[in-house]
Amino acid sequence: MARPFIARYWRGLLAAVGALVLIAAAGHWAEQRELQAKTQALQQAAAAQALGLRGLVEKHDFLPHAVARHPGVQDLLRLPQDASLRARANDYFADLQATTGAAALYLVDRDGLTLAASNWNTPSSFVGQNYRQRAYFEDAVQGRRGLFYGLGLTTGQSGLFIAEPVRVDGAILGVAVVKISLEALQATWMGGLEPVVLRDSRGIVFLSGVPEWLYQAIRPVSAQDARWIAEHGQYGKRTRFEVLPWKIEARPDGVGFVLRTQVQGQRRTLLALDTPLPELGWTLTVTSDMKEVAQARRSALALTALAVALLLLGTLYWRLRERRFVEQRTARLELERRVDERTRDLEEAHAFRKAMEDSLLVGMRARDPDGKIIYVNPALCAMVGYSAEELLGCRPPYPYWHPDDLEKQARESDEALQGRAAPHGFESRIRHKDGHDVITMVYAAPLVDAQGVHRGWMSSVVDITAQKQAEARQRDQELRLQRSARLASVGEMASTLAHELNQPLMALSNFAMAARALAAQGPSDLLPGALDEIVGQSQRASEIVKRVRAFINPQRGQYEILAMVDVLTHARALLEPELKAQGATLRLLIEDAGARVRGDRVLLEQVLVNLVHNALQAMQDQPRHRRTIELACRHSEGGLRIGVADQGPGIPAGQLDQVFSPFFTTKPDGLGLGLNICRSIVEAHGGAIGVDNRPGGGATFSFTLPIVP
Ligand code: ADP
Repeated sequence: MARPFIARYWRGLLAAVGALVLIAAAGHWAEQRELQAKTQALQQAAAAQALGLRGLVEKHDFLPHAVARHPGVQDLLRLPQDASLRARANDYFADLQATTGAAALYLVDRDGLTLAASNWNTPSSFVGQNYRQRAYFEDAVQGRRGLFYGLGLTTGQSGLFIAEPVRVDGAILGVAVVKISLEALQATWMGGLEPVVLRDSRGIVFLSGVPEWLYQAIRPVSAQDARWIAEHGQYGKRTRFEVLPWKIEARPDGVGFVLRTQVQGQRRTLLALDTPLPELGWTLTVTSDMKEVAQARRSALALTALAVALLLLGTLYWRLRERRFVEQRTARLELERRVDERTRDLEEAHAFRKAMEDSLLVGMRARDPDGKIIYVNPALCAMVGYSAEELLGCRPPYPYWHPDDLEKQARESDEALQGRAAPHGFESRIRHKDGHDVITMVYAAPLVDAQGVHRGWMSSVVDITAQKQAEARQRDQELRLQRSARLASVGEMASTLAHELNQPLMALSNFAMAARALAAQGPSDLLPGALDEIVGQSQRASEIVKRVRAFINPQRGQYEILAMVDVLTHARALLEPELKAQGATLRLLIEDAGARVRGDRVLLEQVLVNLVHNALQAMQDQPRHRRTIELACRHSEGGLRIGVADQGPGIPAGQLDQVFSPFFTTKPDGLGLGLNICRSIVEAHGGAIGVDNRPGGGATFSFTLPIVP
């Protein structure tokens, strides 16, 4: 299921919100900072303007005071009709006005009539004018200082009027007035970009850098006030004062306010600061355009947005880089894993192949087309006795070639390298490094690589030495079996022998008796004939015996070194069928498996066969579990003693000496020749044979043989 949007993109959303907050905060901060700077500048501007205004007022403030105390002025009030006094006063005022830069200086009598004025000689002279309704006059005539801003009744020009009562001999006889023009100030303001406004205690703007605001009020002017203003001609004949088109917003810090308005048809937002001038009853408003504040805010917003965007882009880039890095790492790890896997597979495959090669019993040998050995497996090394290092790189003749077959080997090798080797393999005799011969069967095949290029020749070499030996043994065994068969029928032959010999012996006996009888009768012609017969019969008997002996022991004198253990185990193998048929057990006890004797294997086996055969016959009447024969071979007095012990009835004490005699037998079909022949064979091998009865029943036939060291 897809995760909700927020859950999936919460980080991005958080970053976006954070970025917006940051941008907004930066904008706000820049705005506040600019506002603060502006407010400070505004405060300074306000202070400067206030100072300028006050300075202007203060500069002329003393004038009415000084005028009031001037003797010429006082004299004129005493004698208002005196023309010279008037003229002097006029000159005095004119001089003072020129010196101080005041707009006008003039003297009014108690009734408001102007007696003398600095502009006495101008068309708009105040002299003769009555200013009784002017507020400053009213204040001054009552002994107070009069201060009034308004339009001049005569000139129509605005100005600040400061009036002082003129006391003559303690009584107020007139009023001295100075008019200060603020037009220069207004002209300066009008030239400025930032509007400056001066308004009176009723909120009516009387001096402003923006002409359209003049005589408009910050708040509605009451009808009473409007009337008063009209009566005193403060602002000419105006009786209505529109409310200024200002939208005022208080500032949170309470310093100044924000003023939204239109100046010459242009919308403007101004930061404004009011400075009260209580001694004049006015309020000075200085302003500063908020453009810079908005600009600063916009710049900060833009800059922060840019910075945030850069940061986000940086973060994005970094994350992408990270992701790419992670992806690359993952890809690299995956690649490494695959390489590892592949390497492991290859190693396994290699190990498996090596294990196969190592476990192969067949020798493998690869040769390049020139006959150089480029590969051998452990089986081949074991077969020839040379290590792989010794063989690799070898060229014919190879070290394991049999010295007697070098020519044949070279020929076979050449044929194999030319691809003419016998497809069914060829037999090759090689010489093991330790000197013994190894018979092998070699099969050669072309070696073709994965690209199909013929790289040389591969030979598989099978060690057939054991097979060859087995074949030889088989042949030998067959020969011996034949001999055994012949020996087995020795009884039959013996009876034949007896029969054969009986006839010549009877003839011998007869001829001998005849010869003795003839000899007793004296010389006779018959005697030589009888003696010839005797000789002839004797030779015939001898011939018969010779033939039988040759039959029994055809290879007498062909002795060899034999491992006794081999003789014993082979004899048992020969007896196995008979043992099985009798249900008898043959226990073979060999003390020294390495013991060797010199003799005829077949005859010695025949001795053992005869003895075991007799033992089996002796145990015929025993229950089956008592049919165990022990065939033991032990060391004894410099030779070997081989004993055959049975569990039969044993031999009666009186017959112990007779059993080896020829033709002694207790068996109805026996010949009594077996033991006799055994003795002959044992003695022919330099040993002796004997028999003992066993304490627990049974007989032990044993014979000795000289041991071969
Ligand atoms: P045959 O077996 O033909 O009788 P042998 O020369 O082999 O001739 O044996 C001679 C005699 O010795 C036997 O007839 C038998 O009486 C006796 N004999 C041989 N071996 C044993 C034996 N293991 N136990 C008892 N008597 C034996």
